[in-house]
Amino acid sequence: MNLITGVRELPPRLAASLSYEEAAYIERVKERGLPFAVSGHFASLAGPERDDPIRRQFMPDPREEQADPFALEDPLGEARYRVLPRLVHQYRDRALLKTCGLCGGCCRFCFRRVWMAEEAPFIPEEEVLAVFAWLKTRPEIRELLLSGGDPLCAPEEAERLISRIRGEFPSLRIRVCTRIPITDPLRIDSAFIGFLASRRPLRMAVHINHPRELSPESRALLAGLAGAGIPVHVQTVLLKGINDNAETLANLFEDCLDLGLSPYYLFQLDLAPGTAHFRVPLRKGLALYRELAALLSGLALPSYALDLPGGGGKIRLHEGVIAGEGPEGTTLLLRDRDGRLWPYPSG
Ligand code: SF4
Repeated sequence: MNLITGVRELPPRLAASLSYEEAAYIERVKERGLPFAVSGHFASLAGPERDDPIRRQFMPDPREEQADPFALEDPLGEARYRVLPRLVHQYRDRALLKTCGLCGGCCRFCFRRVWMAEEAPFIPEEEVLAVFAWLKTRPEIRELLLSGGDPLCAPEEAERLISRIRGEFPSLRIRVCTRIPITDPLRIDSAFIGFLASRRPLRMAVHINHPRELSPESRALLAGLAGAGIPVHVQTVLLKGINDNAETLANLFEDCLDLGLSPYYLFQLDLAPGTAHFRVPLRKGLALYRELAALLSGLALPSYALDLPGGGGKIRLHEGVIAGEGPEGTTLLLRDRDGRLWPYPSG
């Protein structure tokens, strides 16, 4: 996959827009064990302003070096649930496979970006065999999530893997978690759409954060996927200064609905190191979600959700999950389904 990975490869108007601090930080990013990579398509959607909602998602920002007392190296606690090097089993009937360490966006807020900096290649054959052997001992697994990075960064490898899964496990639901329809939509052609449609039960979870990400190419591809009978669910991360207002989100979800997609999750940000400048305070997020619910029909309204820090699993967010404040007043205590309390920063 051809990705922009340095200042000199950026479109001239973006390169010219870099401050001295930003340019210097881009040079430092890899030394810090973080990736910088973006597809030409996604970069072409960005404006040169520092607060442009597309630019901010991929352009390294010196604020990533600010200390965050709440940051966790493994915000979702995946290590607790890892059953094979790339296989995570947290929920009874689902497992998640990290297929590769590449992504067309390398979002600055991604909780797996340290892993992606290793640029792990597509999962090798011997690991696929180990995953299959594990799945055969677990008949309760109904769904396998193919995640990454982004599995569709390597469509040929993804095609081989999906075909093999379908061959071995005819009724296992496959969920392809991807941002390629946004970051590099021309990478997916009609033959590949036909292939995906022929391997159902298969659905897609597509990461989309802002209406401007829906370029004509992305719209055509997403409508094509939905038109081929592939259920497409939209996952959005709530991001400060990017989409943290009801009007932007309402426009995004209405557009998605019109394309035949289902808004699924609006995620509260995970506590990955160096991402606090993207975090919307939880109470503000709840107020915004109330506003959004008043604007949208139920079909267009995703669930507002959070992965409890440290491995507590996913919960849907509403006023009732806040059980109180932590001792210092810097955290809110969130109640999970079993009544256990988990701290999450209040600001
Ligand atoms: S698209 Fe997803 S996997 Fe890729 S960098 Fe963004 S959040 Fe991470």
